[in-house]
Amino acid sequence: MDERHTTNKKQIGIIAFQGGVSEHGTLCRTIGLEARPVRAIEDMRGLTHLIVPGGESTVIGRFLLQTGLKDAILDRWKQAGLYLFGTCAGAILLGKNASPYSLNCIDVVLDRNAYGSQLHSFSKNIKTTLGDESFPAVFIRAPKITSAGEGIAILATHEGNPVLCEKNRVLLSTFHPELTHDTRIHNYFLFDMK
Ligand code: GLN
Repeated sequence: MDERHTTNKKQIGIIAFQGGVSEHGTLCRTIGLEARPVRAIEDMRGLTHLIVPGGESTVIGRFLLQTGLKDAILDRWKQAGLYLFGTCAGAILLGKNASPYSLNCIDVVLDRNAYGSQLHSFSKNIKTTLGDESFPAVFIRAPKITSAGEGIAILATHEGNPVLCEKNRVLLSTFHPELTHDTRIHNYFLFDMK
């Protein structure tokens, strides 16, 4: 096991109302770290990293609002250095303007369902800045990132649109790394993001 695992004090949470919760948990476990489900403000205690999974952004967003987690997440991100990773619906929620429930914590505008319906879901090997080997990216009713503001680091694109990007401890992917066995993006989130 990577020695970073034995010395770290990471506490990982996954927003667990709906969507790809267990898949993210499994990938974290593959890396050697446990992640716990987050459904209430109390579950946020001590978290250093929080994953907002794919699923249905309207459903997840409504729960975030009703439980007070939306404000708690923003607060811990701003005040306590919490790292955030949103995949697909999670990216819609962390980014700007794509949903009435968006947290607007990264200057990235997304267009929901921009590739079409479930039938237009697809998988594609894409190049990323995380290594020479391409990444098997699974897009399921994915959003498109239509604009990325100043200083956003773009780690991968597909047909000219960013699909993996980050700034200020917020990482977004419009595809689903948790549906693969490739741990590189989760490793990046958990260990390498500044
Ligand atoms: N289309 C969904 C939404 O708008 C996102 C799909 C997904 O997370 N795979 O919330």
